Amino acid sequence: MSPIIYPTTNLKKPSDLVIERGDGIYIFDNKGKKYLEGMAGLWCASLGYNNQEIIDAANAQMSKLSFSHMFGGKTHQVGIDLAEKLSSMVPMKNAKVFFGNSGSDANDTHIKILRYYFNAIGKPQKYKIIARERSYHGVTIASASLTGLPVNHTHFDLPFDALGVLRTDAPHYYRGAQPQESETEFVNRITNNLEQLIIKEGPETIAAFIVEPITGASGVIVPPQGYYEKVQAILAKYDILFWADEVITGFGRTGNDFGSTTMGIKTPDLMTLAKQLSSAYFPISASLVSDDIYQALVEPSNKVGVFGHGFTYTGHPVGCAVALKTLEIYQRDNIFDHAADVGEYMQTKLLTLKDHPLIGEIRGKGMIAAVELVADKKTGLAFSHGEVGNFAMKSCQQLGMITRAIAGSSLAFCPPLIITKPEIDEMIFILQQALDETFIFAS
Ligand code: PLP
Repeated sequence: MSPIIYPTTNLKKPSDLVIERGDGIYIFDNKGKKYLEGMAGLWCASLGYNNQEIIDAANAQMSKLSFSHMFGGKTHQVGIDLAEKLSSMVPMKNAKVFFGNSGSDANDTHIKILRYYFNAIGKPQKYKIIARERSYHGVTIASASLTGLPVNHTHFDLPFDALGVLRTDAPHYYRGAQPQESETEFVNRITNNLEQLIIKEGPETIAAFIVEPITGASGVIVPPQGYYEKVQAILAKYDILFWADEVITGFGRTGNDFGSTTMGIKTPDLMTLAKQLSSAYFPISASLVSDDIYQALVEPSNKVGVFGHGFTYTGHPVGCAVALKTLEIYQRDNIFDHAADVGEYMQTKLLTLKDHPLIGEIRGKGMIAAVELVADKKTGLAFSHGEVGNFAMKSCQQLGMITRAIAGSSLAFCPPLIITKPEIDEMIFILQQALDETFIFAS
């Protein structure tokens, strides 16, 4: 048995799938079997595999300057160019950029910047962060504490109390609504709960509210109409910062440039980017903050001598070059428009399966979706265990498509943004067969 400790894996039942290569939207295992990558890896391989332009950009940067750090303000042109590009792309004013290696560490960076910022402006007690139930923000001690999923807490003694993470409702109408409650009533109730939480804790103790504009890993939850408008009004009323974790929803995934745009979120104060930033050809992430926040960091760093935060690989030049090329391809080839068009097609095609006896809900936006399998279609009764979802996932795999069973019994779909409509048809065809097999298994 391999000495690898596998991540997010049942260690008693690791998979024996050995992936050998990828090409376009397909990957191939070591026996030559071909799979349509319905998850773009882990919601990240937006431009698919074997993209020669990105490979060339990485090779060229490796040859020119394989490493340079950013400590002490030392810099390089690809880093400067990437930061400028990101700052001009995001729906924030004059954003400043801190580079990291993963979504998790980018969220940790934000937590630290928030503390630094509120200490700097003389509000050290304003450090708590509100995060939602069923959210996913990463797995480091701090980011896992923001995450709202029991599997990421159990046996790890998390969430870490000193971080002051507060929890509020997931905006998930299908699972969270009370009997007979309309969407509007649901939104009113959960945003009222948010306001009550803020009042109870004291707004002067709360720094920020973190959201995935559309929740990804914990079930692809698209908040109902009006939710963010209400949330942002409440946060503004109590002077609490809005933090958009766009690790999955960034860069064309939801039908627009960012999930914040899709969901009508106005000017986040902080944004977290990773994954599709480099189309997963290189690990790189970015923590973006408003100019106001940044300016407040400057004087205290001068007093201490440095802003004492940074990773060896912050602004890795190869990561920056790969990300720059990825962003160039997004723009040059109108990838976001393509993804919006094909994404709409994917949502429509998925909805043709809605009468399947196993399907409780189909949800998503743009090129991200989930199909929730249920024990009772009429009542929406959930399966009490994850076996049915796992069976469906394996069935898809056997039929030549990668998907993921998430949040118990939902199948997630998040293909590379370059996927075409005929390839979506192939995806749906496989899904339909897998669902029929799963129905027999579940009956
Ligand atoms: N935030 C969100 C919304 C994510 O979906 C993820 C990963 O899936 C993360 C943060 C953590 O990113 P990473 O796995 O790169 O640490």
